[in-house]
Amino acid sequence: MEEKTKRIHKVEKFQIIKPVNNMTWEELGKMLRDVRYRFWRLANMAVCENYMRFYHWRTGKTDTNENYKVKTLNRILRKMLIEEKQADEKDLSRYSRDGAVSGYINGAFEKMKLSAIKSKSKWRDVVRGKSALPLFRKDLAIPINCSDHKPRLIEKTESGEFEVDLRICQKPYPRVLLSTAKISEGERSILERLVSNKTNSPQGWRHRFFEIKEKPKGKWYLHVSYDFPKAELLGLDSDIVVGVDLGWSVPLYAAINNGYARIGYKKMKPLGDRIKHLQKQIKGRRLSIQKAGAHDLAAPTSRSGHGRNRILKPIEKLENKIDNAYTTLNHQLSHCVIEFAKNHGAGRIQIENLKSLKDELSGTFIGQNWRYNQLQNYIKYKAEEAGIKVEEVNPFYTSRRCSECGYIHKEFDRVYRDKNSKNGKSAMFECPECSKKNKNYKSLNADYNAARNLATIGIAEKIRLQCKKQGIEYRELPKD
Ligand SMILES: [Zn+2]
Repeated sequence: MEEKTKRIHKVEKFQIIKPVNNMTWEELGKMLRDVRYRFWRLANMAVCENYMRFYHWRTGKTDTNENYKVKTLNRILRKMLIEEKQADEKDLSRYSRDGAVSGYINGAFEKMKLSAIKSKSKWRDVVRGKSALPLFRKDLAIPINCSDHKPRLIEKTESGEFEVDLRICQKPYPRVLLSTAKISEGERSILERLVSNKTNSPQGWRHRFFEIKEKPKGKWYLHVSYDFPKAELLGLDSDIVVGVDLGWSVPLYAAINNGYARIGYKKMKPLGDRIKHLQKQIKGRRLSIQKAGAHDLAAPTSRSGHGRNRILKPIEKLENKIDNAYTTLNHQLSHCVIEFAKNHGAGRIQIENLKSLKDELSGTFIGQNWRYNQLQNYIKYKAEEAGIKVEEVNPFYTSRRCSECGYIHKEFDRVYRDKNSKNGKSAMFECPECSKKNKNYKSLNADYNAARNLATIGIAEKIRLQCKKQGIEYRELPKD
């Protein structure tokens, strides 16, 4: 059953901040370096062994029944280390019952790397002198097999941090804290999902391998390879399209091409309000600084001194708060879009290509480029998980086209919109053509109209043709 479900495989990297459970960095660092050294020896032994096996096979001495496995090599290495006085039995038994490295490490090695080492064509080139024996470097990553269903290796602490058991030795395993300070919402959600799949079951998100790598020197990283079932096989239809518009007065508007369904701002209102509130506070701060007197800030002593910090810090703090609020908002918005798409069986999402939007972004709710970029990235990675395609389309005139008849209402620009907005409500899109022909015509919410355009298949081409028809100059997407 597991084989039938298509899965998506990925790797994400997290910095190891420090060991927890009564261990110092010195102790952990020594363990890691010892394990890495032993694994390095083991890996190169496997290379030589496979090379020799090929050599015997070519020379007809096919006594390859010995069939050395990494397990056997691991035992041999243990003896060698003792002979070389690199380690003693007692030390080694901390790591493995009868080998030099933990079973999870040689298990991982067997699964990950041996296929590469076993390649006959590679050995053929070595024998012919065309390439050198491919030996491993000393700073190689330590692999750990984590694909079994038993233990839960990643755990979330009460304070919302993530701890991981490193199975590099016999129990008890060293437990480490991962850095979550600089990771994105996406990376965090990966950890959340791995944690929530307590038995590492194939129905959910599974960790497959860990790799521990020191790069740069002194900094250790945990590379987590994981997989998850593709698309959950929802029967999504790629002809059903969700269009996502960067809202004029709201952060986001989404519509679908096969009906009148939409999602707007209401759901996210509390967060939006909070952001507006914070922005007001910043404005207030700035004003009070101006009043305090510009010369105070310009004075050389206070330039880098205490005074400047005292005044500026609260602004930075507020700005950080705003950034965090936006990140949360973007997280929620993208989640809503994906749910909306799934609920309507949409297999495709069309979003605006941001390159051409630079000038226009400043007047919108989200305002800064990175924020919308972030929102798009969230939509992209969440869509991929759900098996939904995301396409970027040229947004040119998508907010001025009538989503009913296709007519382009050229005057419907920002100035026009601002002029026609009432009580903070954004202007309605009223199509001059439709209202002429149809007495019962009702104007549309402008953001909804734009989202519907963005949900239209082949929208850019349609607008281009319509521009030609109306004698309007069309603007292609800028080239990179
Ligand atoms: Zn119209």
